[in-house]
Order: sequence, then structure tokens, then C-alpha cells
Amino acid sequence: MGLGLNWEVIESRFDQKSGTVFLEIRETARLWASVRCPKDTNVATCYDHTEVLTWRHLNVFQHRCEIPCRLPRGKCKQCGHVFRVRPPWEGLSTHFTKEFEAFALLLMREMPMSRVAEIVGETDTRLWRMLFRQVDAAYAEADFSNVSCVGVDEMSLRKGHDYVSVFADLVRKRVLFATEGKDHQVWLQFVEALEKHNGHRGAITQASMDMSPAYQKGVQETCRNAQGVFDKFHVVMNVNKAVDQVRRAEVRLGGPGVWDALHKSQWLWRKNPENLTEKEAARLAGIDQKSLRTAKAYQMRLVLPDIYTSPTATVARHRFGVWCRWVRWVARKEPKNILRSMVKVAEMVEKHLAGILAHWKWGVTNAFMEGLNSVFSATKRKARGYRSTVHMITMLYFVAGKLRFPQF
Ligand SMILES: [Zn+2]
Repeated sequence: MGLGLNWEVIESRFDQKSGTVFLEIRETARLWASVRCPKDTNVATCYDHTEVLTWRHLNVFQHRCEIPCRLPRGKCKQCGHVFRVRPPWEGLSTHFTKEFEAFALLLMREMPMSRVAEIVGETDTRLWRMLFRQVDAAYAEADFSNVSCVGVDEMSLRKGHDYVSVFADLVRKRVLFATEGKDHQVWLQFVEALEKHNGHRGAITQASMDMSPAYQKGVQETCRNAQGVFDKFHVVMNVNKAVDQVRRAEVRLGGPGVWDALHKSQWLWRKNPENLTEKEAARLAGIDQKSLRTAKAYQMRLVLPDIYTSPTATVARHRFGVWCRWVRWVARKEPKNILRSMVKVAEMVEKHLAGILAHWKWGVTNAFMEGLNSVFSATKRKARGYRSTVHMITMLYFVAGKLRFPQF
């Protein structure tokens, strides 16, 4: 445990009843040669001892191991300040040793918190408190000085409620900052955090995001050198949504065979054909697509990934233009304006074309925007049962912040 010469184990015993190994520790006389007053670093002497405190340590041969110790309290010779001597084995939380914290963090990387609690036999609350301290300490040391390409996306804590805006460094593929809400103000908070960690708002050249006006306003107000980029993932997501709106409108409208064909089929139309499971592919093949409006919308949607393979922005600009005209032309011929949600998407594409075409300039960096979604689900899995903003943000930094935990 690296006790050094200032501390010694005075007794080790095994308690049959609780199956616990106790390693009782106390300070040696040498300790006082190195203890200094935390206020003025003057020499201190022993004042008294605390009650017996215990720290949870790594198991010994599968047995729970605890360290009981009556901690000495020092008194400054100069200012009289009385303080608790910090033992070298103590982690960042007062209940665990450093080694135990390192082990628990290792488990937390692999599994949900509730499962870690089960395995190590500690309460969730204590483990969370430890994680808060570890993440806070590591985050305080994080360096954002090279950040130039950022992306922002929203994560919902509960289905459709309580949003958190998450900012990521698209080059180093890490989460930089997260905060409650999804209005333009979150950008102000972001640049504040950025600059607290040696970054600079003027250094931000790329800001990837969905097409929400709030985020765009936020970027314009805070990062003047940033070009807004609307990433492929969000463009395709908007088109997927529109296809589903067509599907629901068509189901409402009814007609021969429409219900059978479209009921609970939303997943079929969302994927590229090569990603369908065998079962899904069979169902899609069984649907008579000729007269379905949903199938028309789906055909439009299928063209998009293809446009994204265009070699240059100029080619892509031309093809997006053709796509928008095609959508309008088909929609005009359909009764009851049933393809209107597709037309809306076409309008959105035209309005945001510059930001969409920026994909060709910044293409590579955008891969992480899509990756964020799996980061979000991993975070939610690990924090199961603890969906408060602070729990989720802490877990998000832990899972995806690429933080360095200095003591290990
Ligand atoms: Zn002092």
C-alpha cells in the first residue's frame, strides 16, 4: 500500500462473522517530521486522534478488506490551526483507498453503476460520490487549447424531456462540455468552459450541429470564425422523419392494403437496404410499393446517401438542386398534399445548402457526430436509475471525455 515509514500496520485480523479482513494502521513517531500546517506550512505537532475511521481497500483473497485507523490531528505551532492529517492511502472520497477507487473506476468503464455496486458490495450513492470527485478532479485538468472543430448535439435524459447539450471535439473525438438546455445560451456557457481550459473562441473554425435556429444563433454570437456545418447524420435524420410523416399520413388516409403494408413498418424505411435484416428485407419485398406514397418518399430518401458520395461540393450542389426539384415535382402530382413533409425537407436543404455543402470541406471530422449517439446510449446504460443532469453529465465525461485520472 506504500505506507512508507510514517505509518505502520499494527494488527491484521480476520472477522469470521462478517468475512472481513481488518488491517489496523497507526502513525509512527516519524510522521510529525513531515506534517505541515495546511494554512501556512509551518511545523505541527500531534493534537489528538479522531474516532476510528475505516477505508474500504481491495479484497484480500476474496474477503472484504477494511482499514480502521484513528487518524491523528495536528496542531500548528505557529497559528494554532487544528487539522486532520491526510493519510496516504485515502482516495478522493473519504471512504475508499486509492487502490479501491482505481479498481472501482475500472469496473465502471465496463458495466452499469448498479452492477459495480453489486460486485464490490458498496452503495450506489458512495460510488457515485467517488465518481463525482474523480471526474471533477480530472476535468479540472483537461486541456482544450488545440480545439478548433466542435460539434454540438442534444441528448434527452428522459424520453423527450430534459435536454442536455453536448459539445464535442471532433478531431480528438472526445466530449468537451455538457450543460442543461438546448437554446442559444448553451454556447455562451461552452465558450466560457473552453476558455477556462486554455481554449479560445476565436480558434473555433468549424461548428457542426443540427439545423435548429437556437444553435445557429449561439454560434454566430460566440464564435465569429466558425463556419456552421450541418452534418450528414442530421440531414438524413430529418429526411427519415419526413418519410415517417408521409407514412403516418398515408395510414390515416387509408385505402386498399395500406394498413397491412405500412402498419408498424417505420423501421423499414429508415435504413439503407444493405442494413436491413433478412426479416425486414423480406417484409419490404412483400410490400407492393407501386402505389404507395411512402415508397415514393423512401425512394427520395435513398438518393441522399448517394449524393453524399459526390466527389466535390460543386457536384453535390448540383445534385441537391436536382433532388429538391424532383421532390417538388413528384409532390405536386400527389393528391391531398401528402408529400408535404418531403417538400419541407427540400426547402430546408435549400435554405441551409452552404452549411450542408461544408460537409465536403470538413467531411472527415464529422464521423464523431454520428458516434455521439452511441456514446449517449452507453452513458444512459451506465447511469441506469440515475438520470439527473449531474449524474448524466458526470458519466458522460467519464465515458467519453478522454480525461486523465492522474493518481493511477
Ligand atoms: Zn499554521
